[in-house]
Amino acid sequence: MELSTEEGKRLIDQIAALKVPVFVLTGGDPLKRPDLFDLIRHACTVGVRVSLTPSATPLLTKDRVVRLKNAGLARLAISMDGACAETHDSFRGMPGSFARTLDAVRWANDIGLPVQINTTFSRRNIAEIDEMVALLEGLNITLWSVFFLVPTGRGKLNDLLNADEFEHAFATIYALSKIAGFDIKTTEAQHYRRYLLQQRVAERKAGAGVPATPEKTADAIGRAPRGLNDGKGFVFISHTGDVFPSGFLPLSAGNVRQQALASIYRTAPLFVSLRDTSMLEGKCGACEFKEICGGSRARAYALTGNPNGEEPCCSYVPKGYVPPLPTLKQASTLHVLQGR
Ligand code: SF4
Repeated sequence: MELSTEEGKRLIDQIAALKVPVFVLTGGDPLKRPDLFDLIRHACTVGVRVSLTPSATPLLTKDRVVRLKNAGLARLAISMDGACAETHDSFRGMPGSFARTLDAVRWANDIGLPVQINTTFSRRNIAEIDEMVALLEGLNITLWSVFFLVPTGRGKLNDLLNADEFEHAFATIYALSKIAGFDIKTTEAQHYRRYLLQQRVAERKAGAGVPATPEKTADAIGRAPRGLNDGKGFVFISHTGDVFPSGFLPLSAGNVRQQALASIYRTAPLFVSLRDTSMLEGKCGACEFKEICGGSRARAYALTGNPNGEEPCCSYVPKGYVPPLPTLKQASTLHVLQGR
C-alpha cells in the first residue's frame, strides 16, 4: 500500500509547487526505501530542500551518509533521546543506537552535511536535560529540535511531563538558546512561545533589554517565523498517502491518491478548523497568547479526544479565565498534568 516511486515523485512535485521551506523524509526508517536516493535527487531537481530522519540501525553507514549528501540531502536529522547509551538505547529499544548516532554525527560533520538532533522529552529522560545540553554543546550541530511527548497509548500517559515540568524544561532551553552555537526549536510545545514572550517582557522590565536571538542556522533551511501548529504551516503525509495535521494527531483529512495535497491542506474541514483560533476551547480559547501559541492540538486530542480542546500541559491561566467544573475523569488527569 506504500506510495510507489512515481506517486512519491508526483507528491514531491506538488510539494515544490507549495514552495515549502523544508520537506522531511521520516519513518519508520526511510533508509528502508530502495528508491530513497532517487526521491531525494528528484526533490532537489524541482527545488525542494530535503531533510532526512533515519533510524540509527546498521542501515545507517558512512557510505550511505555520503551517498545521501551526493544525492542532494540538505540536512541529516537524527534522534538522541538521552545523554548516555543506557537511556537512549532503552528509549529506542535498540542496543548500540547511541554509539551509531554519535558516529553518524561525525560522518556528516566530516563531509559538511548539516546535522539536526531530535530529542523527545518525557518522564523517562527529562532528568538528563542538563547532561543533554552539555553533550550537545560538544557536538557540531545546526539545530536541536526538542519534541515533547504526545501520549498515544495508555502506558505513555505516565511518561507525560506535567505543566510544571514543561516550564522547567522551557527555562533550561531558554537559557541555552542565549549561548548555544546552534538553533533550538520545540515541537508539540507551542506554549514555549508564550514562555519566551513572558521572559522577554520580564527582562525588558528589569532593564536587561531584549536579547538578540538571531537564527544561527547555517544551511538556509531556517525556521518558521510564526507560530506553527498541527495543520498550521505543517502537514504530515503517511507512507500510504493519508494527510494528517501532524505525525502525532491521527485524524486523516484526505489522501493524496484521491485529492491534491494543496486542496486537502487548504480546504479540508479539519485543517480549516485547526487554523481558526476562534474554534479553540477551554483556556486556550480564552488566552491572549492563542495567536502565537494555541497549545498542542495533538496533545489536546490525545487526552480529550477533541483536537480543539485545551492544551493539557500548560500552567498558564488566562487573565479572568474561570474554568468550567471538569468531570471527575477530566479532573484527575488535568489536575495532575497542570500541577494543581
Ligand atoms: S493556555 Fe493555551 S494558548 Fe494560552 S499559553 Fe497555554 S497552551 Fe498557549
